[in-house]
Amino acid sequence: MLQQLPIAATGEVWLRDALNGALADGFLRIQANLPARLWLDFVPQQHRAAMARRGKLSEAIERVFAAYDALPPDGQAEVRDALEDQQQLDQLFSGLRAALPLDDLPATMHGPLKEYASRVFDVLDDSLIRDRAYQIYDQHGFLACPFCGYEAFDNSRLRQMDWDHYLARSLYPFAGADLRNFSPMGDGCNARYKKSKDVLRSDGGARRACFDPYHSAPATVGLAQSQLFTRGAGNEMPLWQIDLVGDHDRCASWDSIFEVRARWMDRLDRIYDKCLSGFRELFRGHDLTDQALAQNLGRLAMSESQPPPDTGAILRAAVYSLLADRAGQDTDEGARLRRLLRVAIR
Ligand SMILES: [Zn+2]
Repeated sequence: MLQQLPIAATGEVWLRDALNGALADGFLRIQANLPARLWLDFVPQQHRAAMARRGKLSEAIERVFAAYDALPPDGQAEVRDALEDQQQLDQLFSGLRAALPLDDLPATMHGPLKEYASRVFDVLDDSLIRDRAYQIYDQHGFLACPFCGYEAFDNSRLRQMDWDHYLARSLYPFAGADLRNFSPMGDGCNARYKKSKDVLRSDGGARRACFDPYHSAPATVGLAQSQLFTRGAGNEMPLWQIDLVGDHDRCASWDSIFEVRARWMDRLDRIYDKCLSGFRELFRGHDLTDQALAQNLGRLAMSESQPPPDTGAILRAAVYSLLADRAGQDTDEGARLRRLLRVAIR
């Protein structure tokens, strides 16, 4: 992904801790043939009255306990392990730990856990927890989707962007109350590309590397392997090669889930034309030396790279960077580019 999310947005942990504490305690008490305690007993006093009105969440938790109570000991152990694993998001994202997805847990738990995760999200979604997280994203200036770089983000005072479960709640229901598992995401990335794909596993079920939205160093876009003047009737267009510059395995998963390279490839011709026309407008009438042509393209690349990235800036920066590099080269390609730029600004 293209931007690291601010860890401060994940700081509200009381709901996660109350739910995980209630479930872990309840599972142990059921093993000991004791009744589970009310989950409200685990909620901090200042939130208890509001949570007491969440009857559907309480009922969902009771159904989880009832399904758990009916499991044989090895099935109960799998559920406890899943609860433990899904609390360790740092380790899941860094690859130090695996976690069984819901499909691999006992079938009688599937319905109750899906219902539980859905009710948990209801609480997050229509309480002020989501609003507070979004205010922190706003403060850090997220202007574009950090997963594709071109879906525009409105300020959350207008309409909040999708708030995606990075690990799908349908697969990892116990991670559904942890703000570390949420990310603002453009509608297209969320609804048309990621959907409920398993970030931790490829389609074949093998464990894969993934970006940790709040800790991993972000990636960037490289076009350095592209060749100018290769496509089109007059060979006027580049043959694009898009490289994801960053941790190789994480980038591979990101591209597999969000199809970013295919989506960018579809836009690059238009962005290339826009970059050339932008250069023309800025330098029309200037008599630039070879060196000044390359330097000014480099400045435009730097300007587009300034954080926070605006919509499409990461691609414009990559195009300007490619042009700056080629305009400075003593090659046929470089010479043709310099002629093109000089004619454009004449
Ligand atoms: Zn996006």
